[in-house]
Amino acid sequence: MQNLAPALGIYVSIPFCRAKCSYCNFASGVYGADRMAAYVEKLTAQIRQAPERAAAWGGQLPTRVDSLYFGGGTPSLLSVSQLNDIVKVINEVFSVDASAEVTLECAPGQLRDELLRAMPGLGFNRVSLGVQSFVDHEASAVGRTHTRTITLNEIERLRDSGIDDINVDLIAGLPHQTRQSWRDSLAQAIATGVPHLSVYMLDVDEDSRLGREIIAGGTRYGVGMVPNEQTIAEMYTEAVEQFCAAGITQYEISNFARAGRRSRHNLKYWTRQPYLGFGLDAHSFLSTAAGEAIRVATSDDLTAYLDPSISDDDRGTITPVSRAEALEEAWFLGLRLNDGVSLTDITREFGESAIQAFQPILNDACQQGLMEYDEHRARLTHQGRLFANDVFQKFLGVVNSGAPLIQPQGVFA
Ligand code: SF4
Repeated sequence: MQNLAPALGIYVSIPFCRAKCSYCNFASGVYGADRMAAYVEKLTAQIRQAPERAAAWGGQLPTRVDSLYFGGGTPSLLSVSQLNDIVKVINEVFSVDASAEVTLECAPGQLRDELLRAMPGLGFNRVSLGVQSFVDHEASAVGRTHTRTITLNEIERLRDSGIDDINVDLIAGLPHQTRQSWRDSLAQAIATGVPHLSVYMLDVDEDSRLGREIIAGGTRYGVGMVPNEQTIAEMYTEAVEQFCAAGITQYEISNFARAGRRSRHNLKYWTRQPYLGFGLDAHSFLSTAAGEAIRVATSDDLTAYLDPSISDDDRGTITPVSRAEALEEAWFLGLRLNDGVSLTDITREFGESAIQAFQPILNDACQQGLMEYDEHRARLTHQGRLFANDVFQKFLGVVNSGAPLIQPQGVFA
């Protein structure tokens, strides 16, 4: 039976870090206690107003929540009392399942004893660790302050406190990384026994310090030691193979899990389930009563976000998603998953023409070895995952919607 009231996922953006990583282009930074306190106050007020704001957007807001994700930034930098304030107001406004997946992003070595002890009481049952590399000089070259020893110790502390649902983020393509050092990081990640791993191929953004240094032709941040695209692609392929051999199955372009340990929260982004984002540079997706949807993005400017003279709706963007755009999204978001897109579901939701319109693209991508499909499902091949954005662009062109590619939140921090 179709579930007419899917549960909501909530993302809470905490854009504060102890140091800025050289490759990072997120709306995050190093700020003092005053700014953090003002931010939490603003955030909790926004959460309280969520039902009214969603109604004003025309969005249907489920009250039941089955996933909460505190990302950033480094949300573990907030005090226990600040995290408690946020969790408390969420529970006042929404009905959070007792079995909800509740994730806190942490930087290894920055999880205080006090917070670790308080986490179960706050409801946190999952931690995502921004490790990026187990090789110390690679981590320090991009501004990470942890070492392999610190990370392994952090995983043990989490397990000792009863949290074993742990994700480790890794990046392929860091400055100084080699095929051999990457193998070392992969082997160590597998050896930790964590149930979930994420691997991102470094895509240097011009808004990061590393990107600006490359454009300026400089030498700082290990610019000359960034592996080339071909090597990064080979590193990614090696991760897929090594994890698969260790029983950690790829389920999305960047995500891998042991049996039964996929991230409920992240899956919402790719299956177009409703989610609500609070805070800086947060994104929301809600259905509307008319059977369409809206996407809402908040400002990525902290000063504007905190400015009481600017109305909340002037700080971000509200974008209606038409049926045609929804169809494109169903394709390019669903194709991120290794399970691919169910052709039956697409037909049921959008009609027979939804497959026919994309048939030439499917055939073309199959001929190029980027996709495969049968009468039930269409999916990317491994080669297709390496060039996923190119494939997704083909699906965007069909109805010429110009709909933005939505970057999943809560990853890669
Ligand atoms: S990568 Fe993560 S920890 Fe590093 S500066 Fe960006 S948000 Fe902060």
